[in-house]
Amino acid sequence: MEQKKKRILIVEDETDIAEILQYNVSKQGYEAEIAGDGEKGLALALSGTFDLILLDVMLPKMDGFEICRRVRSRLETPIIMLTAREEENDKILGLDLGADDYMTKPFSLGELTSRIRANIRRFSGETVVKQEDDKENSIIHIEDLEIDTDSYTVKKNGKEISLSKQQYELLCFLAKNRGKKFRQDALLEAVWGYDDYYGDVRTVDVTVARLRKQIEENPSEPKYIKNKRGMGYYID
Ligand code: CA
Repeated sequence: MEQKKKRILIVEDETDIAEILQYNVSKQGYEAEIAGDGEKGLALALSGTFDLILLDVMLPKMDGFEICRRVRSRLETPIIMLTAREEENDKILGLDLGADDYMTKPFSLGELTSRIRANIRRFSGETVVKQEDDKENSIIHIEDLEIDTDSYTVKKNGKEISLSKQQYELLCFLAKNRGKKFRQDALLEAVWGYDDYYGDVRTVDVTVARLRKQIEENPSEPKYIKNKRGMGYYID
């Protein structure tokens, strides 16, 4: 039986970039559709027929952040934000709104391909992991934190904390490997699933910072997620 091609939605108003992206991902065996403005992008994204969304930030009619927010309230489809700006704020906002990743233009097509592959793999692997999880081992306690890997929820003192997918997965990974220290590049590989390491370790730092803000009483003196200079992040 022929395997169904994975579908990628490219929301990008710059035709040149959109077409290069489409050409490149098609060459990798994906089927790609282009939306040239925000409204069209949102409508297509919400059709739920895509396996991944490449989302530009600056778009006519509706910006990428708004699209990200609206898509995420309905669907879990992986979203990679394509930002032209170097500003840290854009990345943080995108990740907060539920984007799975961001890339700053100009980026290498090799890097993009690697990240698309990783995100699609992680997304399609999820349901399998859910079924295989052993009910009895599904709850991890760390002091007053409770991580339920069955229902993907995190509670602190019994109160549920809302985390983005990346924040959750990072927390979960460190919790399952308590005491071990992981450098950013190792975390990118383990949590984000990047097999070729291309790049931006700040993705990890930004995600840790946001995660600490959610779970720590005092994020500048973290109790859960600690950092040892040169050795990496860990949970004691
Ligand atoms: Ca644009």
